[in-house]
Amino acid sequence: MSPLETAQDVQLSTPIEQLPGVRSQRARLFRRLGIETARDLIRHLPMRYEREWGEDAIGNLPMNAIGVARGTVVATRWVPPIGRRARSGSASRRGQGRFEVTLEDHRDRVLLSWFNAGYLREKLHPGMAIRVVGTTKTFRGYPQMVNPRWEILDDPQDTPRSGDRWRPIYPATEDLSSAAIERVIIQVLPTLLPQLADPLPEQFVIERAMVSLRDAFARAHQPASQDQADAARRRLAYNELLLLQLGIAMKRHYSQAELSAPPLRWSEAIDQHILARFPFQLTRSQRKVVSEITGDLQLARPMNRLLQGDVGSGKTVVALYAVLLAVANRKQGALMAPTELLAEQHHLSIDTMLEGSSVRLGLLTGGQSASGSAQRSALLDAIACGDVDIVIGTQALLSESVKFHDLAVVVTDEQHRFGVLQRAALRSTMSQTPARKGKTPAPHNLVMTATPIPRTLSLTIFGDLDISTIDGLPPGRTPITTRVVAPEKSEDVYRYLAKRLKKGDQAYVVVPAIDAAGFETTQQLKNVREHARFLADKHCGGYRVATIHGQLKRRTRESIMYRFHQGKIHVLVATTVIEVGVDVPNATVMIVEHAERFGLAQLHQLRGRIGRGSDGRSSVCVFIARPSTEESERRLEAIAATTDGFKIAEQDLQIRGMGDFFGTRQHGLPPLRVARIPDDLELLYLARRDATAIMREDPMLHHGSRKRLRKVLIQQYGDALGLIDVG
Ligand code: ADP
Ligand code: MG
Repeated sequence: MSPLETAQDVQLSTPIEQLPGVRSQRARLFRRLGIETARDLIRHLPMRYEREWGEDAIGNLPMNAIGVARGTVVATRWVPPIGRRARSGSASRRGQGRFEVTLEDHRDRVLLSWFNAGYLREKLHPGMAIRVVGTTKTFRGYPQMVNPRWEILDDPQDTPRSGDRWRPIYPATEDLSSAAIERVIIQVLPTLLPQLADPLPEQFVIERAMVSLRDAFARAHQPASQDQADAARRRLAYNELLLLQLGIAMKRHYSQAELSAPPLRWSEAIDQHILARFPFQLTRSQRKVVSEITGDLQLARPMNRLLQGDVGSGKTVVALYAVLLAVANRKQGALMAPTELLAEQHHLSIDTMLEGSSVRLGLLTGGQSASGSAQRSALLDAIACGDVDIVIGTQALLSESVKFHDLAVVVTDEQHRFGVLQRAALRSTMSQTPARKGKTPAPHNLVMTATPIPRTLSLTIFGDLDISTIDGLPPGRTPITTRVVAPEKSEDVYRYLAKRLKKGDQAYVVVPAIDAAGFETTQQLKNVREHARFLADKHCGGYRVATIHGQLKRRTRESIMYRFHQGKIHVLVATTVIEVGVDVPNATVMIVEHAERFGLAQLHQLRGRIGRGSDGRSSVCVFIARPSTEESERRLEAIAATTDGFKIAEQDLQIRGMGDFFGTRQHGLPPLRVARIPDDLELLYLARRDATAIMREDPMLHHGSRKRLRKVLIQQYGDALGLIDVG
C-alpha cells in the first residue's frame, strides 16, 4: 500500500509505513521499537521532558542570559593548549585547548568556543547546520558563547521554533532519534486524538480529578508545563493499573465461575497413608501449607495457589503430597520443572520415596534422543490411557502430543523461571479432565517459587493467586558460613577444600563456562573442563572429580548425579545447571568462581545446594569474586550478610530497582509501560479499589460503558494475562 498523502486520513489502525513522513525504510526502525501502527505510535510516550527555549536570530540573542539560536558553521579553529612555560593566557584556562566555531545565520555571526574539547574537531565541520543553547557574552567587542550545548539539525529547513516549550524525549535508537519520532507524532496527533474513545465514563474520570484520555495523550506528547505532563502521566498510569487489576480480577472470576476441577476426597486415612511415604515428619509450617492446599483440592473449582518458601525449605514433599492426593483419588498428577536436571532429580527422589508402592511414575523431558523415541511414544500412550499416575517433566509436558487421561493436579516448580506464555499453554493443554455440566474442565494448579514476592505487591498485583508460605527450614540444619574471597586467595580456598574432602565431605565448584570456546583468553573465565582438570591435578589428588553441565547426555548426567549421591564422586565441577533442585545432604562445600558475574537470587540458590544435612556438619560457601561495579559489590555484601531468602529478595529489589521486577518475565506480568512501582503505589491502591467495585457489579464487564473497557482490556492485556479463553 502507498503512503498516505495527508495526515487527515490516518486511523488508529493505520500501519506505521503509511504514515506521512515514514517510508518503508524508516518503518523498520519504528518496528524495532515495537511500533506497528498509529495507535502504537501515540502510545509511545516520552520518558522525560526538557525545557527548551524558543529560538532567536543570532543578532537578537539576549546578552548574559541563556538563549537558543541556529545557524551554519562557517569556520572552525582548534587552538592547542598553551605550553606550561608560556606566560600568557588566563590562569584558569592554562593547559586547556579550545575549539572555536563561527556560526552564522542570514544576518549575523556569533563565536562559539569550547574548552578542552578537542573531540569536537571530529564532530563539527564547516557547512553543518546546528542549533546551540548557551549564554551569550561580549568578548573583545564580539558576541561569544562559551561551552554551549549543541545539536545537529536533522532538517535545517524546518521553521525555527519561537516561544519556549517542554520538549519530549522519546525512547529512541541510534538510527531513529527522539526528534524524528516527535516529528511524525506531531503530524498525526491532531487527527488521532478525536478517534480515541475513553474507556471510562466522563463522570468517573472527573471524580478522580483526572484528565480525559484525549487530554492525557495530547499533554503527554506536547505539554505546556511539567504539571501538564505529570497530570497526563497520572491518568495514563491509572489506566494501565486499572486495566491490570481488572484483568487479574476477571481471570480470577472466570476461573472460579466458569472452570471446574475435580474435587478430591481427603480423609485421615489417606493423610496417614501419604505421610507414611515421607522419610521425616513434616514441620509445622509444611503441615499448615499442606492443609491450605488440601482445603483447595477438595473443592470443585481449580486451586490457583502459589507456594513460596526459601531454598531448602522443603517444598518438594508438599508438592508430592498434592500429587499423591490426586493419585489416591485415582487421578493423575504432573510435576513440571524448568530444567531437565531438576526433573531428573525430582524423579529420582520421588521414585525413592514411593519405592514398593503401586504408584506408577513417568519422566518426560525434551532431551530424549531419537533412539528413545519408541520409549517416548510408549510413555505418551501410557499417560493418555491412565497407566501412569504421576508424570514428572520439563516444558516437554506442554507439547501438543501429551494427552492426559484424567489430570487433576499440576505442580510447576520454580515457576519464576518459566515464561507467561508457557504457563498459559500449560493450562490449556492440560484442560482435558472430563467436564462438569456447562463448565470448562481444568486441573488444580500449584506453582512453587523460592523467589518471594514482597507483601505489598502480592496483595495487589498478584490478586489472582492464593499464597502459601513455608517459613523457616526443616530442623537440624546447621547454618552455612559464607565467605567472599578475592581471586588471589583461591589457592587457600582449594587447600581448605582438600581438608574437607579428607574428612569425608563432598563439594560443588561452580564456574561460568563449559569450555574455553567462545571466550577470549584475555577474559580468562574459568570453565568446567579445564577447572576440573586443574583441581584433580593440583588439589584433589586421590579424590574423584567429575563435571556436569547442560550439554551432557541425559544418561551421563543421571549417572554422574547418582554417583555423587552415592558418595562415589567427591567434587562436582559444574555450571549453574545445579542451581535448582540438586539435593545431596553430604555436600557441604560450595565454591563459586567469578561470583561477581551472578545475580543475587542465583547465588542464593547455589548456596542453597549445601547445608542440607542434619548430622551437624558445618557447611561453607565461598564466593571467589572481584566485584567490578558498586552494584556487584553490594550484591556480594548482601549475600554474605544473611541466608534469609526473603531478606535477599528485598535487597535484590532495592539494588536492581522495582522497574526490573516488572520488566522481567520473572513474575509473569505484562510489563508496566507508564506506571512505576513503588512510586505509584497510591495510584495502584486506587485502581485496585475501583476494579473491585466494578467487578462486584459486573464481573465479566458485559454491560453499558464497561463493554468498551472489556474490549480495551482484552486487546491490550489478553495475551499477557492469559485472558484468551475469557475473551
Ligand atoms: P526446596 O524448598 O528448596 O525445594 P526441598 O524440597 O528440596 O527444598 O527440601 C530440601 C531438603 O530438606 C531435602 O533433602 C528434603 O528431603 C529435606 N526435608 C524437607 N522437609 C523436611 C522435614 N520436614 N524434615 C527433614 N528434612 C526435610
Ligand atoms: Mg525445590
